[in-house]
Formats: sequence, structure tokens, C-alpha cells
Amino acid sequence: MHFRERLEQLRGLILEVTAEEVEEKLMSGADVVVVDCRQRDEIAEGRIEEAYPIPFGLLEMELPLVVEQRDQEVILVCAGGTRSLYAAQNLREIGFTNVASMAGGFGRWKQMGAQFRVFPLEPLPEDPEAEAEAVSTVPTITAAELAGRLEGEEKPLVVDVREDDETVRGFVPGAVTCVRGRFIMRLESFTEDRKRPIVVVSSRGVRAAYAAPEALALGYEDVVVLEGGLKAWQEAGYALEVPRALTPQAKMRYSRHLLIPEIGEEGQYRLLQSRVLLMGAGGLGSPAAYYLAAAGVGTLGIIDSDVVDRSNLQRQILHNDQRVGMPKVESARQTLHALNPDVKIKTWNTWLTRENVDGIFGEGWDVVVDGGDNFPTRYLINDACVHHNIPCVHGSVYRFEGQVTVFKPHAGPCYRCLYPEPPPPELAPSCAEAGVLGVLPGIIGMMQATEAIKVLLGVGEDLTGRLIHVDALQMKFRELKVQRDPACPVCAEGVVWPGYVDYQRFCGVR
Ligand SMILES: [Zn+2]
Repeated sequence: MHFRERLEQLRGLILEVTAEEVEEKLMSGADVVVVDCRQRDEIAEGRIEEAYPIPFGLLEMELPLVVEQRDQEVILVCAGGTRSLYAAQNLREIGFTNVASMAGGFGRWKQMGAQFRVFPLEPLPEDPEAEAEAVSTVPTITAAELAGRLEGEEKPLVVDVREDDETVRGFVPGAVTCVRGRFIMRLESFTEDRKRPIVVVSSRGVRAAYAAPEALALGYEDVVVLEGGLKAWQEAGYALEVPRALTPQAKMRYSRHLLIPEIGEEGQYRLLQSRVLLMGAGGLGSPAAYYLAAAGVGTLGIIDSDVVDRSNLQRQILHNDQRVGMPKVESARQTLHALNPDVKIKTWNTWLTRENVDGIFGEGWDVVVDGGDNFPTRYLINDACVHHNIPCVHGSVYRFEGQVTVFKPHAGPCYRCLYPEPPPPELAPSCAEAGVLGVLPGIIGMMQATEAIKVLLGVGEDLTGRLIHVDALQMKFRELKVQRDPACPVCAEGVVWPGYVDYQRFCGVR
């Protein structure tokens, strides 16, 4: 079963309550326990004052310490209402009978203007699993056995499910890291091969034992847990791989980032681990990709079906005169690689269609930068971003004007909330038809790159719920508030995912 199917299934199993209902319960003093199960760094930006902060990965261990009665009403909150569904199901499986998920998550809570507070980040407990006992029946592997298999021909995939601030100190060499809260969402991006052996690692093996059955539920056949976790691995004298992020070369390259308190080594490490998908290597994609690569965003995906045309070079700065006729994704790869060889570039020299979109978007992207220049693709990207719960940084340009905003699923509006219907094709000219001032996509694309970096780092106020309109002729920047449409066909509360439509026909293109 795919992650998305599982999500639909959970929506049928778990009671969802609205943020308004939660606020009412809290105000009326109802006997309810609200638990915020986001990552620690997300919680640090603010949480519902009455909520207990317990990251997803530690829930099954820590909640029983807070709540003794298994029939106590518990409401789980995450950022957008997806993780909390998984969390609720995990709690049901250990015997909690009255668990609900808050639809729309903390994003919805903030959006409706309810009270929240910022608390300082508390240090992780020294040994968060000490109190807990593994309840899983998943088979285990010892540190010595794992070390042997990593030497052999058929290496298992090792997935470390600890929190980011734990894995930053080191992990089993070759392991991929993925916090417990995103395990099930990321696993298919590590391997789709259901027969590949998988070893799940946590600090003592308890969190891994809770995570492993989720992989079995997705159809992975050979899933084991490292017995005693990373602690046992270290005690047996095996080496750790420390994240390669900040080598001396990286410290040099990104030194001007390291000086900024909002970024620093931790933020730069996070950028190096980040994955951004760009729609288009054209006017907007060029400056956006160029600066994201320079900033050290670790993986850039680029989708573009075009070849470089001489008329592109007035604005598409990734390309040059010698490359006329070359696929744009290849030209982009060469330019970006020359700028920063550390960045992994993944390309698709194809149209984005409803047939290939899930395959591409399902690879686990943190942010999508939409630099597309046609309406069918724009709606398709929007729907895919909502479906896969990926923030989308949207930009568009026309002659001397441009606009930019951020569509964060369920935390703010999506493209369809703003534009439920596409304009008639004759009123929606492309750059080729209408023309565009060459530097304008530079301005808008760089604003998109700025927003993408802020979303990746979780710093500042991104453009969720705000749209910036730029008029370069008058040099005026206007900010418009934009709102969710409660009747939006793809992102409204409680809407069942309608599936992709025929976007060409929807936009009247053919
Ligand atoms: Zn919407």
C-alpha cells in the first residue's frame, strides 16, 4: 500500500475535530489532553499553550507517562493535520481508545487567530527511551550481524529514525536519516524495492521497534530492528559516520551563512540535507535554481521539456549562446554543477503530466518552486503539492509585472483558493506571446528562492497567506492578503482527495 492510500484509510478510521472545536473545549475547561506531535524545532516557533509538546517519534513512550487512563480524550496536533492522523493510529494501537486528530493542524490554529505561545526549546532528555519497553514483535539484528552484512554483497538499507538533533552527532555508516515522524512518508523515496532488506535504527531500538511495523504495512517484506539501537552499535566499538555537512571546505564556502544567527552550522546542515523541486529551467527557474545551488541546497530536481532557444537568453541566465539546441535541464545541470559541485542535480526532460506527477513528487521534496509558464501545469502542480503536502513557492511574470506567494497546504490558501477557474486561453498569454522585461523573472525568481530557503530553515515570516505584486515600471511592491477558500475543491477541510483532472481541458487549451 502506498503512503497516500494509507492516509485515505486513516481518514476513515480516525476522528478529526476542527480547530474551533478544540479551542472551545479548552476554553470550557473540558477534560481533554492536547498533544503537539510536531518536531521540536517546529514546536519551538509556538504552540497551543495548553498542549503537551511530545514529538511524534517519542509519543508511544512519553504519552503513557503523562496520561494514565487509556480512555482519556486525547487530541493530536501537527502542522497540517497529516502526521497527527498517523500519530492517532499509533496511539490506538497501544490501547488509547479516545484519540482524535485536529484537522488543519497548528497552521489552521494560527490562521483562525487563536492564542498560542512561544516557549523556549527544552533540551532533549538524556535518555528518552530509558523508561520504555519495546512492545513490537519485529525481529531484531545484533550490531555484529549488521556490521557483517554491511561488509557483504547485498547491503541492507539502514534507516535511522532518530530526531535531527540526535543524528547530527553520527549514525551507522551509510545509513539514511529520517525522523520517526516522517519515516512512512520518506521510505519509498529511499527504496521502492519491497524485497530489499531494511534495518531500522533508533537510540536504543524502541522507537525503531514502533516504526518497523509501519514499513511492513507498506508491503516491505524484510524489516528488522537494530537490537539495542545505536547505543549497542557504539558499545560494540563500531564507528559512526558523522554528517559530512560541514567539512572545512563547506565551512569556507558557506562562511557568510554561518555568521547569521538564523542559519549558522545547524541551518547550513539542514540546507545541505534539503531537497527542492523546480518546475522549469526558464525565466523564473534560472535565478531560483542558481541561488539555491549557491546557497547549498543539497538536492535540486528540475523538470523541463524544452531545449535552449536563442530567444530565451534575454532572461534565462542558466543557459548561454553555445548551448542553443541543448535540452534546458542538461544546460542547467552544467551551469549549476560548475557553480557548486556539492549539489546533486536530478532532472526530468519531460512534460509534467498527471501520469508522471506522483512518481516525481513522491520522491520526498521539502519545497516545490513553481516557475511554470502555463495554466494546465500550474493547476497540476498545485493539486500535486496539496496531495503530497509539499509547500509550493509560486511566481509568475507578465511584461513589467510579477507576483510571488507561498502555498503551504492547509496552513494557507492554495492556487485554486485564489483562482478557482483558469482564465480563458486568449486572456492568458505566455511570455512568448506577451513579452516580459528580461530582469523581471530575475527579481521574482530570486524572491522565490528567498522564500524557499526560509521555508526550509523555518525562519522568519514566509509569504503564506500573502501575495506580493511587483510593478517594475513604477517600482512598486504591493502586499495583498490572500485567504483559504472554505469550498476549495482540493484543500478545504474534510475534502476527500478528488484525484487529478484533465488539466488541458480544464484550462480550455485544446
Ligand atoms: Zn485551496
